[in-house]
Amino acid sequence: MSEPVSAVLPDAANSRTGIITIRHGDSIKEAAAKMLSHNVGCLIVNDDQGHFVGLVTERDIAHHVATSPDLGTDILIGRIMTGDVVSCPTGTANSEARRIMMAHRVRHLPLVENGKVVGILSARDIISQQLLEDRAAAEEVAMLSKCLKSIDLNEAAEIVAAEAPKLFEARNSVLCLYPAGDRTREPELISSNRCPCVGGHLMGPQGVECGSRSEDYCDAEIPIECSKCGGKAPRVVLPLDIVGLPEAASGKEKQLSGYLCMCGLPDSSLANKELTQYKAKLTREILVAHLTNATRYQQARLTSLTDALTGVGSRKLLEEKLVEECDRARRYKRSFSVALIDLDHFKMINDALGHVTGDEAIRKLAECVKREKRGPDVLARYGGDEFVLLLPETKAPDAAVLLERVRARVREIRFDQGMGLSISCGIAEYMLDADEAPGDVMRRADVALYEAKNAGRNCVKLWCEEMARLLNASDIEIERVKRLQRRIMGLSEKAERVFMESIWSLVQALEAKDTYARKHSENVTAYSVGIARTMELGPKYVDLIRRSAMIHDIGKIGIPDAVLFKPDHLTGHERRVIEQHPLIAVRILEKMSFLETEIAIVRHHHEKWNGQGYPDGLSRTAIPLGARIIAVADTFDALTSNRSYHASRPIDETLAMLKDSSGYEFDPTVVIAMVAWIDSVAKCLCVTTKKLMVDDLLSTCEPLLEEPEPALVLGDADEHGQTPALADTAVRVCL
Ligand code: GH3
Ligand code: MG
Repeated sequence: MSEPVSAVLPDAANSRTGIITIRHGDSIKEAAAKMLSHNVGCLIVNDDQGHFVGLVTERDIAHHVATSPDLGTDILIGRIMTGDVVSCPTGTANSEARRIMMAHRVRHLPLVENGKVVGILSARDIISQQLLEDRAAAEEVAMLSKCLKSIDLNEAAEIVAAEAPKLFEARNSVLCLYPAGDRTREPELISSNRCPCVGGHLMGPQGVECGSRSEDYCDAEIPIECSKCGGKAPRVVLPLDIVGLPEAASGKEKQLSGYLCMCGLPDSSLANKELTQYKAKLTREILVAHLTNATRYQQARLTSLTDALTGVGSRKLLEEKLVEECDRARRYKRSFSVALIDLDHFKMINDALGHVTGDEAIRKLAECVKREKRGPDVLARYGGDEFVLLLPETKAPDAAVLLERVRARVREIRFDQGMGLSISCGIAEYMLDADEAPGDVMRRADVALYEAKNAGRNCVKLWCEEMARLLNASDIEIERVKRLQRRIMGLSEKAERVFMESIWSLVQALEAKDTYARKHSENVTAYSVGIARTMELGPKYVDLIRRSAMIHDIGKIGIPDAVLFKPDHLTGHERRVIEQHPLIAVRILEKMSFLETEIAIVRHHHEKWNGQGYPDGLSRTAIPLGARIIAVADTFDALTSNRSYHASRPIDETLAMLKDSSGYEFDPTVVIAMVAWIDSVAKCLCVTTKKLMVDDLLSTCEPLLEEPEPALVLGDADEHGQTPALADTAVRVCL
């Protein structure tokens, strides 16, 4: 018989089966009959004096019958019993008993006390016992999920730190989660429930050791740092890995990794370590699921409160803050202001430079306001190109000072093609006496913005009583006005086309009088469009350049024929007269507000890259890009056409002359684009540039004026569900 195993753990008496004995001189048959009648699989064998000498099991009997059938069942038990029995003392814990059984590959373990067998542990009993314990633990842990009610991440963390230790009867706990699992960084979330060492080693890089394992573990010891602070062993540590939603900046899922450390457990938790670890595993699964949900909820909420394009607050955030601010203003009788900021003519930026640049403009505006605003001010994107700045504790005139500063900064923003930005802004101060609702103050700011737009844009307007007439007639629906604006846009597009057609006839009539300049504007337009497309400008910008080129010489209508058609060289005075033509064009066109950008291009098409041109002596990118393009196209046409003072030059020679003047007279990038365009046409026609003729070039260009569109598009259906076509009829009838 082996030495009894030392007993250190609590009693396992519940797992004992009854002890049925047999004497070593009894037969196998008697043993089998006893097993059957007592429904046991094992008998304790005693000698004649009643001393424990061995063990016989069903297996031993079966083995004997199978291997020695000739000997029959009258053979004595003493011959087949196991004499060298593995046993253990009373008080051995189930887990230890199971370990012994597994190590010795036995299924029965006699409990020996003072040389006598007082019980037997069977594997079957131990497993049933363990199942009961596991079930009780699972039910206990499941109760934890009932406590985890809050989905707010910080609250959830506090509940976890307070409730989970109760399952293990732990005294102290701390929950620590690090961003991206990097424990050298400050924890993103920390929640302590009487943890004595929080803020000490757990928070710093030294804390890497604590909870750095990926499995739950139950320790009989705690780190020295913990015990120095008053922590007590044993402890249980649950590693936690939380995977949130993908983050906008990186596209990667948010990772929070860390642990829940609980110390000061009772010693019994180590006695049944397996059960403690089983509970730890279940607890961890529940906590990870709950903290993952809380993290995702926090992220989703943050996303709904943040504008994806600019990173400033969303409209939802503004609405929430506005309600809070109104409550605060009422409670403390302290006012606040709101400023509505809207980009001017932003559609034009989109049209001319494309939506990517449009987005960049929106971002730049947001950055600009962010730089100028004060800490407590809340900036939110209200929609499209509109932002709201909520200014707590601020009177309207003070808000105006800040917004004027923003307006000046926005004017400094420039885009590649020399286009800039401006904003209009409406400001309203919360009216304490009127006990306004959030919508009221916003509406007054909107009216002030409307006034700013009416006043010509690029300005800041404070709401004032005179504007109240707009408010009182709450029938003046700014949204409705905007909708009608869209419809009118359809009409004005038609008017614009008619205007362009008639002005084009004028240009052609003017050029018809000059044998040398016939078709000049048409050619310049074709070349300008070729350059613009080669520069990959957006379709709207190409259109803008087309229209500008068509009318670039309209001012010549005001130059006397004697000077305009003079075959000889011009005198200084005559040259100065001719140089007036861009300004005359501006005077002719200035009332046509829809040609605002074209007018700027026409005005500057004789400026030079080095600042030596006219009428304003602008240089480099201060000259509108369209004007720089037309300047190159204009000279190209003049050089490749017959003039009274020179014969037409071949294309390759003309290009060489343009290249010579690149960087002096002309924008180098435009000259490069002109050369690239001509090369591509030559390649397309399978000729060299030397052989290429002007007519070849022009044959590749489309007609200048597009066919009018069959139907007039007037915009979306209105709130009455009226279709654009019906609305169009109504407007036409009114007209
Ligand atoms: P106004 O001076 O009267 O404000 O003229 P506007 O051209 O700026 O007109 P409005 O403010 O009414 O139009 C805003 C335009 O902004 C309409 C839409 O095409 C454009 N837009 C809206 N959201 C975005 C966006 O996220 N990106 C870009 N690029 N454009 C946007
Ligand atoms: Mg706008």
